[in-house]
Amino acid sequence: MRFQRLRLNGFKSFVDPTELVIGEGLTGVVGPNGCGKSNLLEALRWVMGENRPTAMRGEGMEDVIFAGTARRPARAYAEVALVIDNSERLAPAGFNDSDKLEVVRRITREAGSAFKINGRDVRARDVQMLFADASTGAHSPALVRQGQIAELINAKPKARRRILEEAAGISGLYQRRHEAELK
Ligand code: ATP
Ligand code: MG
Repeated sequence: MRFQRLRLNGFKSFVDPTELVIGEGLTGVVGPNGCGKSNLLEALRWVMGENRPTAMRGEGMEDVIFAGTARRPARAYAEVALVIDNSERLAPAGFNDSDKLEVVRRITREAGSAFKINGRDVRARDVQMLFADASTGAHSPALVRQGQIAELINAKPKARRRILEEAAGISGLYQRRHEAELK
């Protein structure tokens, strides 16, 4: 499952529509302090279904919406879209009818988050599951957050195990088992 494009609109400091092409291989983000590097990574996690405002450095999820500056008014919504190459048909059943997957998450202050995959309304859960097995989930070790290396080194064994399970791509199995046990 290869990420191809990331589009942001009204997400944190990315008030104007911004599109990034994600090339093959390793991607690095460079720039001066405060230019939005961490915001970009957060947008990627957010569109993959991250639901903890603290992971977005906010108190509530609506804090990801552009809050306004002295010159520009705040926005009413934030939207992030992620385009994924699915020519190898690695997505779970039900999402494998096309070469491309476009996952969109939109949040408004009043109505909270809504998700779409290829234009179809889906639940947050569906988006999280889409990424859970590909070891690309919102908590994936493939995305290294600022300060995360130090956290890994200092982690207790149980927390470290969770990180390794995610890296091995088996955390989706645990999520499905947990859901099955609840039914
Ligand atoms: P560093 O190199 O210091 O880690 P960075 O490139 O990672 O910096 P970010 O933390 O991504 O920078 O961006 C911080 C900027 O984003 C700040 O200027 C902050 O005001 C702005 N920002 C964050 N949330 C919002 C929001 N909801 N609305 C407007 N601007 C925001
Ligand atoms: Mg940063």
